[in-house]
Amino acid sequence: MSTRKPVTIAVRTGIESDTQYQAVVPPIYLSTNYGFAKFGEVPQFDYTRSGNPNRSLLESALAELEGGAGAVVTNCGTSAINLWASAFLSPNDWLVAPHDCYGGTYRLFNSRAQKGDFKVRFVDQSDEAAWQDALALKPKLVLLETPSNPLVRVVDIEKACRQAHEAGALVAVDNTFLTPIYQQPLALGADFVIHSTTKYLNGHSDVIGGVVICQDPQHHESLAWWGNCLGATGTPFDSYLTLRGLRTLGARMRAHEESANVILHYLEQQPRVGTIYHPSLPSHPGHEIALRQQQGFGAMLSFEFNGSFEALKAFVNHLTLFSLAESLGGVESLICHPASMTHRAMGEEALAKAGVSNQLVRLSIGLEDSADLLADLTHAFHQVEGIA
Ligand SMILES: *Cc1c(COP(=O)(O)O)cnc(C)c1O
Repeated sequence: MSTRKPVTIAVRTGIESDTQYQAVVPPIYLSTNYGFAKFGEVPQFDYTRSGNPNRSLLESALAELEGGAGAVVTNCGTSAINLWASAFLSPNDWLVAPHDCYGGTYRLFNSRAQKGDFKVRFVDQSDEAAWQDALALKPKLVLLETPSNPLVRVVDIEKACRQAHEAGALVAVDNTFLTPIYQQPLALGADFVIHSTTKYLNGHSDVIGGVVICQDPQHHESLAWWGNCLGATGTPFDSYLTLRGLRTLGARMRAHEESANVILHYLEQQPRVGTIYHPSLPSHPGHEIALRQQQGFGAMLSFEFNGSFEALKAFVNHLTLFSLAESLGGVESLICHPASMTHRAMGEEALAKAGVSNQLVRLSIGLEDSADLLADLTHAFHQVEGIA
């Protein structure tokens, strides 16, 4: 079965697995607990925090998609990252993370380090000197986020994993932006893959969830133990919905990307658009690496808006098909101002260091007809023509 293509794994996991009624789609099990057939005979599932059929099915789908030994599904992406850190780090251990990682990840690591739970070094992972300095700390864990949020910077996974392993670290890659359809970090040497399943994997903006997928079965055992101990695991209903969303992942990713290409081509012609950040552009610093390690470029992009902050605000307010909202990766197109929304928890100094300017806007290209998206952008650009 392991030779099945990712698109097929996403569609087929759990189909025709019901032995009671031969339901083609697996049913949902909301029960909190499961009976012991006999005294002392522990059933496969006993209590939903530690295990549930729907979560278990989603975990096997995600582990197979990433080529891992096992997965732990959590109640959000942040708790997946927290579970990973909690399971492996002690107060004297170093964690190395990207200086431009997801804002909530930055806040989590920074706040826990301030409490003394572990030590953290945020680095620009494309700055070779800073990266080598960080590895010289002999970190226990390294997090990569590629492409990163919101500047879609690309890190060479194979090279970074080799260097981190030489320094004695275990490496996780946050693969939220590309999904296993377009990038498989374990095959490139990573020890863990982390996702906010809230985004593309569920894909319909109606579930908050996360997952850690492990290369090593012992790491999986440890994370499953800590997931239950900390109470970080996902609910049956969320797991059911996420597996339902996951079935269309292949088709969605192709459609998202096709539309993103149309939008990128259009944005390149717009006088109000400065630098565009997307790995498909030959001018993007990570373009060559992306060509090597990704099977697609994804549909997350950002750009610098030319003009005053007033003009930027007016432009955003005139859009009707791009909802002004955080999150990403759903069927609906979104626009976000990272400095005041997703990344505001970082604070001004860290934002400046990470290169997230006040003129930066981020787009998550949804599944609407791209002609309608272009018309919407054209209308909004037209409306701000008179504003400096
Ligand atoms: C959203 C996001 C997270 C956090 O996930 P939640 O489900 O919101 O807790 C982590 N990493 C990346 C790249 C994200 O986009």
